[in-house]
Amino acid sequence: MSELPYPYEAPVSQALFDRAAAVTPGGVNSPVRAFRAVGGTPRFMVSGSGPYLKDADGREYVDLVCSWGPMILGHAHPEVIAAVQEAVAHGTSFGTPGEGEVALAEEMVNRVGPLERVRLVSSGTEATMSAIRLARGFTRRSKVVKFAGCYHGHVDSLLAAAGSGLATFALPDTPGVTGAQAGDTIVLPYNDADAVRAAFAAHPGEIACVITEASPGNMGVVPPLPGFNQQLKDLCAANGALYISDEVMTGFRTSRAGWYGVDGVEPDLMTFGKVMGGGFPAAAFGGRADVMAHLAPAGPVYQAGTLSGNPVATAAGLAQLRLLDAAAYSTVDSVSRQIQAMVSEALTKEGVAHTLQNASNMFSVFFTDRPVRDYEDAKAQESYRFTAFFHAMLENGVYLPPSSFESWFVSTAHDETALQRIADALPAAARAAAEATA
Ligand code: PLP
Repeated sequence: MSELPYPYEAPVSQALFDRAAAVTPGGVNSPVRAFRAVGGTPRFMVSGSGPYLKDADGREYVDLVCSWGPMILGHAHPEVIAAVQEAVAHGTSFGTPGEGEVALAEEMVNRVGPLERVRLVSSGTEATMSAIRLARGFTRRSKVVKFAGCYHGHVDSLLAAAGSGLATFALPDTPGVTGAQAGDTIVLPYNDADAVRAAFAAHPGEIACVITEASPGNMGVVPPLPGFNQQLKDLCAANGALYISDEVMTGFRTSRAGWYGVDGVEPDLMTFGKVMGGGFPAAAFGGRADVMAHLAPAGPVYQAGTLSGNPVATAAGLAQLRLLDAAAYSTVDSVSRQIQAMVSEALTKEGVAHTLQNASNMFSVFFTDRPVRDYEDAKAQESYRFTAFFHAMLENGVYLPPSSFESWFVSTAHDETALQRIADALPAAARAAAEATA
């Protein structure tokens, strides 16, 4: 990493970070928040409004992280806040069924054709963990195929060669996962259907499922090559395995029906999180009715949650989904296109080799001139340039994901003023990227 002079200070955030480090490992509750990949002091945010975040030192930033995806309407959207206030006034958790969770499930099922039945949970990790267990219970097989660079939450069996924080920290695997769990996971290069074919040939009757990000965003944005998801689906069908599409990141973001709305490939099971929770801990898994019928209490595969279908979280999610109409997606897509064009223009002007990749309105910048099709390609970029770029943007009031292995996220609230602030910050950041040394 290059030695960057960080001319600005964030004393209140630093003091909070010091306090946090005394009571929480690494001072954060989720690793990528710690800024370790880019250095410097993580900003402790105190409020969000529309496209902006304000930190504890009183600085305002245009937010291009959007809580890692959920805040697709921007922060503190008045109608989402009103729905939350209305729900919370009636109590925060009952431990019984309630109408809100039914309404949210109905909204999801109505949007996503293959989602015949859905079970609500509280995090994307819980969703993928439960989907894997159900796939194993349904097929009575053990092995799981995943792709290098795809992140499906911190499920033991899915951490091998994962993206997101594990890519950021260059962790190939993690201590604490047993050999048995790792041994049941087959990790293959992304966008390589031949490798999947070979895995099925090498393990006949053993593979329960193939899980993939519907369009990966956790090694940076690396969309599936045309036909890749369909090939996965067909290979699973031919070999008695289930095809699980992880839409935690893409779901209800890349279109009103998520990535399924873009490529139309019908998964057996799907997982959701982020946007569907409106900024609250709500997530889900679901899919084919005959598979979901194996889930307790309808069937023998156990899965449960004290706060599953929480009334406040489901109210927030439902309010957000109901606001996400065609006009909203068209706005987010347009904002995303404009920012991508501005970033590319600024980097080109400074002669910085880069590749912008997008999946609908999700996008990321790779500091390489080659297309990125898998995790190896993503790792080959000049990440030190991102570090310089990131800090120059931060200094000029634009908050990017603090890692070059993440998608950038925008919202309907990113208006002309916010876009202008990004435009104003870009020239210096592009210069910093050009001047950066490894
Ligand atoms: N799956 C994907 C594709 C994700 O991007 C993430 C989180 O970023 C997860 C699963 C895990 O979700 P959570 O962080 O809510 O556990």
